[in-house]
Amino acid sequence: MNDLIERALDAADRLGAGYADVRVVERSNEQLTVKNGQLEAATSNQSAGFGIRVLVDGAWGFSASALLEPAEADRIAREAIDIARASALAQQGPVELDDTPPVTDSYRTAYREDPFAVSLDEKLRLLMDADAAMARVPGVAIREGSVTAGREIKTFASTTGARIDQEIVESGGGIEATAVNDSEMQQRSYPSSFGGQVVTGGFEAVRALDLAEHAQETAELAVALLDAPQCPPGEMDLILDSTQVALQIHESCGHPTELDRVFGTEASFAGTSFLTTDKLGSLRYGSEQVSIDADATAPGGLGTFGYDDEGVPAQNVPLVENGLLVGYLTSRETAPQIGRRSMGSARAWTWSHIPLIRMTNINLRPGDAGSLEDLIADTREGIFMSVNKSWSIDDRRLNFQFGDQAGWLIRNGKRTQLVKNPTYTGITPKFWGSCDAICGPDAWTLWGLPNCGKGEPMQVGHVGHGAAPARFRGVKVGVGRW
Ligand SMILES: [Zn+2]
Repeated sequence: MNDLIERALDAADRLGAGYADVRVVERSNEQLTVKNGQLEAATSNQSAGFGIRVLVDGAWGFSASALLEPAEADRIAREAIDIARASALAQQGPVELDDTPPVTDSYRTAYREDPFAVSLDEKLRLLMDADAAMARVPGVAIREGSVTAGREIKTFASTTGARIDQEIVESGGGIEATAVNDSEMQQRSYPSSFGGQVVTGGFEAVRALDLAEHAQETAELAVALLDAPQCPPGEMDLILDSTQVALQIHESCGHPTELDRVFGTEASFAGTSFLTTDKLGSLRYGSEQVSIDADATAPGGLGTFGYDDEGVPAQNVPLVENGLLVGYLTSRETAPQIGRRSMGSARAWTWSHIPLIRMTNINLRPGDAGSLEDLIADTREGIFMSVNKSWSIDDRRLNFQFGDQAGWLIRNGKRTQLVKNPTYTGITPKFWGSCDAICGPDAWTLWGLPNCGKGEPMQVGHVGHGAAPARFRGVKVGVGRW
């Protein structure tokens, strides 16, 4: 592999690249799914290859190959150079990279139990136990559970002398119950509806979910939702659980702070942004309570790594500080345009893709409102919503509507009536501006979101969101049917 890396960088240099980097990536994924007491799917796949990115006359070129041979490095380097020369013809201004110093280092996800070393039998037993517990609840039509494992081994090297080896290990799992009657279907997922919980770490994280322990209540809630009344429409105080806060952060803060979207250079998947750079340091994004960080160093986060795919070290930087917009997710190309150095959020899904600005772990800092129970007790009249079911947000990430799996009305500080199909709607800065309480560190969870899509061709992004239950005053709820 060293040969291939050297050949790639030498060739790019010789052919006229002002800058070049090469990534050699090997990715393995495994997923096990159980449905209604049967093994539904057991998939395992590997992919390996390398990508070369070059800058020629201030224009990018990229090419990639699955043939890991030194001679192929020459061919791919030439192809990348040709593409860069062609891109230069349509380029508006030359790309200029920031002054991030090149680094030689290595990084490994910390884990106790290698998720690939745990036997299929054991994983299957864990899912079957949860399935059996759900099956004991009458009225559940579909029971599902899955566990996942991922490993990425990659090397990054550049013509400026960077050389970084990384091994990222991921583990995840979750369950879902579906109840059906003549007229509708209701679902409950544990612990979230985005693939359960996925972390960078070992299988110990899956064991800690105690899927079987939570299976019965998950199934019972799906059944109970069938007979629950609809969420009433109105304007009321809204408490979101931490999984829904996580998705709210993802859609209304994570995506609009991606600086490539802000500049309009990456507009696929409904993506520009209302957070234009003239608002940096002046826009009131939320209330005083709201501080949001991009933290690629958070232990266990699905957006945690040592270095991004441009060789920039993982960092923890504020995006929103006490309600004020103070930062963006940047790359080496975009950061200088706002007078900064990259904060390290350029990542590629795999060897065959060019890095784009992707969220790291976009975390809402915990507040001082104690536990969820404390926050409900502090709320006279309102609604608590839990686990995302649907979402919709406009191109600029301003107007949104979310639906959740379950809601509970709050009366005089008590969680009362269960309601189904709860929804809420808002406008991003007004909504975050109405946030007056966030639960404390003990109620804060760093959720993994394994299915963020961006770019063309589409790239999957593994990102994280730390969140605690939070309260928003005077929110429009119960609008529309989902
Ligand atoms: Zn996304």
